[in-house]
Amino acid sequence: MSTSVELIKEAEFSHNLNREEIVTILKDDSCNEELFQAADRVRKKYVGDEVHLRGLIEFSNICKRNCLYCGLRASNKNLDRYRLEPDEIIELAKKAVEYGYKTIVMQSGEDEFYTLDKMKYIISNIKKLDVAITLSIGEKSFEEYKAYKEAGADRYLIRIETTDKKLYEDLDPGMSHNERKRCLEDLKELGYEVGSGSLIGLPNQTLESLADDILFFKEIGADMIGLGPFIPNEDTPLKNEKGGEFTMSLKVMAITRLLMPDTNIPATTAMETISRNGRIVALQSGANVVMPNVTEGEYRKMYALYPGKACAGDTPAHCVGCITGKITSIGRSVSSTKGFRVRKKITT
Ligand code: SAH
Ligand code: SF4
Repeated sequence: MSTSVELIKEAEFSHNLNREEIVTILKDDSCNEELFQAADRVRKKYVGDEVHLRGLIEFSNICKRNCLYCGLRASNKNLDRYRLEPDEIIELAKKAVEYGYKTIVMQSGEDEFYTLDKMKYIISNIKKLDVAITLSIGEKSFEEYKAYKEAGADRYLIRIETTDKKLYEDLDPGMSHNERKRCLEDLKELGYEVGSGSLIGLPNQTLESLADDILFFKEIGADMIGLGPFIPNEDTPLKNEKGGEFTMSLKVMAITRLLMPDTNIPATTAMETISRNGRIVALQSGANVVMPNVTEGEYRKMYALYPGKACAGDTPAHCVGCITGKITSIGRSVSSTKGFRVRKKITT
C-alpha cells in the first residue's frame, strides 16, 4: 500500500485514484501541503492562470423544499422572504455586464412563481447581453430544462450534495436521490455544461462517502464542481451539528482537481465564510473560478443559506474590485472570456 505522499505524486500525473487511495489521503493530514501544491500545479498546467468570474444573482429566497441544512427551507419561518420581478433580474444582469462579468449565474430556491414563460423571458433577455448564462434553480423536468436551453441557458448547477443515497434522503425529506441523478443526466443529454458538487462535513458523512463523491464527479464528467463546507444554520434542524472544516473541504477540492484536470472548480463563498481569505487559498489549491455576488441591498443578507455568509454586507461594485485585487495580488489574472470548459488532452 502506497503512502499518501506517493499517491499524491502519482495522481498528479495519472489523474487516477481509487476509493481506498482517496480515503488514505483524506485521513492523513501530514501531507496536506504536498496535496495543495500538486493540485495547484495541475490547475496551472490544464486551465492556466486565468480566473473566471461569474456574477451571481440570488433572485428569490422562496423555496418549496425542506433540505434540513438550508436556511431557505420552506419550514423556516424566521426568514423574511423576497423574490425579484423578471425585469429587476434583467436590470441586475445589465449591471453585472457593466462590471465586466461574462457569465451570469441565476440562483434561487425552488420558487414556482417563475413559470416557464417567465424564465424564458428572463433568459432570452439576458442572453441579448452577450453573456454565458448559468442556472441554479433546482429540480425541473426534461421539458423545462430543454426550454431554458432553447431560450439561451448554457450551464446548469445542481449539486448531488452527497452520493450517499440514504444520507441524502434523510437530509432532503421528500426528495429522491435517483431524481437528482436524473436531473444531471437530462442536463448532460441536452448539451448543458453541467455543474455538480457536494457539502463537506454533513452529519454522518464518512470519508468513504466523500471519496465516492469525487469519483462520481469523474464518472459523470462534470464540467464544474462546487465544493464547500456545510455550515450549520440556527434556523434549521441541523443547528447543533458541528459543520464542515475548511481543511477537509480544501482537501476534497484538491483531490478533485488531481482527478479532473480540465474541469472548472470554483473557490466557493462557503469556504470564504469559514476561513478568512478562504477563496484565495482555494484558488491556490486547485480552484480557477470565483462567483462574486451581484445581488443588491438587503436581499444579499436575506439569501441566508447559512449564517455569516462572506461579503453579505458589501456592494456588487465593491466585490468586483475587491476580488480582482486579490486575484492579481497572487499573480493570477481575471479572464476576459466567457470561460467555457476547454477540454484538454490529458497527458499521463
Ligand atoms: N435551490 C437550488 C439552488 C440554491 S441552494 C438547489 O438546491 O440546487 C445552493 C446550494 O447551497 C445547495 O446546493 C447547497 O449545497 C448549498 N447550501 C445550502 N445550505 C447550506 C449550508 N447550511 N451550508 C453550506 N452550503 C449550503
Ligand atoms: Fe431549497 Fe436549494 Fe435550500 Fe434545498 S438547498 S431548501 S432546494 S434553496
